[in-house]
Amino acid sequence: MKKSMKKLKKRTTSGKNILVYRKGRTSAAVCNNCGCEMHGIPRLSDAQSGKLAKSHRRPNRKFAGYLCSRCTKEFLRNAARNV
Ligand SMILES: [Zn+2]
Repeated sequence: MKKSMKKLKKRTTSGKNILVYRKGRTSAAVCNNCGCEMHGIPRLSDAQSGKLAKSHRRPNRKFAGYLCSRCTKEFLRNAARNV
């Protein structure tokens, strides 16, 4: 049993109350710069997202899955200015 698993109280058909452990929901992908929730990335486990097409797992742009769109824009703008 992992700490991330969810506890569920259930009543069996024989009338007993038991605790059932279930996997919790996968947390949303977060930007590594500002910490905001990133869009375009489904909240799926690794096993489930492996079944998706690569283009469905994250946006198709630079730093996708690492920085949010706003931070990417800012980073590229600063990089161009400091050349
Ligand atoms: Zn960000």
